[in-house]
Amino acid sequence: MRIPDIMKERMTLSFEVFPPKEDQPLEPLLAVLDRLYPMQPDFISCTCGAGGTNAGRHMEICQSILEAENPTVPISHFTCIGRHKDDIREQMRRCLDLGIDHLLALRGDIPAGWEGTRGDFSHASELIGFLREEFGDRFVIAMAGAPEKHIEARTFAEDIAHLRMKQDAGADFLMTQLCYDVERFKEWLDKIRTAGIHIPVDVGIMPVLTKKSVIRMCLGMNGCSIPQPLAELISRHYNDSDEDFMKAGIEFTIRQVYEYMALGIGGLHFYSLNKADAVLEICEGCGLSHRK
Ligand code: FAD
Repeated sequence: MRIPDIMKERMTLSFEVFPPKEDQPLEPLLAVLDRLYPMQPDFISCTCGAGGTNAGRHMEICQSILEAENPTVPISHFTCIGRHKDDIREQMRRCLDLGIDHLLALRGDIPAGWEGTRGDFSHASELIGFLREEFGDRFVIAMAGAPEKHIEARTFAEDIAHLRMKQDAGADFLMTQLCYDVERFKEWLDKIRTAGIHIPVDVGIMPVLTKKSVIRMCLGMNGCSIPQPLAELISRHYNDSDEDFMKAGIEFTIRQVYEYMALGIGGLHFYSLNKADAVLEICEGCGLSHRK
């Protein structure tokens, strides 16, 4: 079944994993996946490195998800970085041959020192339009959205207009960037609905596991805010052991997931960070373990 169709009927549960580097074994990730499958996720998405350097790897992981004892839908992330039309066509045919028919179509982060994508497309909307032109409805296509505005966009209005372009180009659902500020998320959700973006929204949940990772993800990479309750949590547990900090972070994440569930969203997408224990504990704490 197509994921956005499920989202119209009920809230989906899904996980994101990332492939190991080329010279690292796949087995640890396969072991993480084996722990996640019993949750019966509606899908598992796999990131791809900017520039597609480990593209082979993320396809291998999508394939292993399809071949699991209790398979689920793999979603392959795919970026415009360094990609030309012929190469994209070939990769997409390979996906279809393997049975991978769900994609997250992205521009990708521009590698340091590059001007633009060095490929045929500058923006995700162009990639989505191309995929629709070339492959019709053979793929379900997800697009990314940043509830606190993409860091490069000058204004919310501009960013939301670009989101609308991605929907109009043929995206079927929207997967969000992390957002620890649920109030800001609500405002953004209202704004995108006003802008005519009607596709289901799948909320990306970044578990709070270490203070370093929260600070890096919010301030070092994505221009996301650390709202007062999270700032307070970090301060209160600043000198705690890693284990105690994680315990407090997991409790915070559980409360936040409940707030998101109350918004009538299309799905919850957990950034697993390739760590099964913490994500499973969060799912358990949010009453999602009935799916097992
Ligand atoms: P776009 O939609 O192209 O937007 C990028 C910027 O350009 C925005 O500021 C937008 O407002 C602007 N823009 C869009 N269209 C136009 C236009 N026509 N004219 C002018 N400006 C325009 N990155 C990876 O490298 N690999 C991954 O696997 C990966 N997975 C991700 C998963 C999720 C759920 C999310 C939310 C992000 C992920 N990213 C990943 C990060 C993503 O690639 C970056 O956020 C990237 O900087 C933007 O990608 P995009 O698809 O949103 O780009």
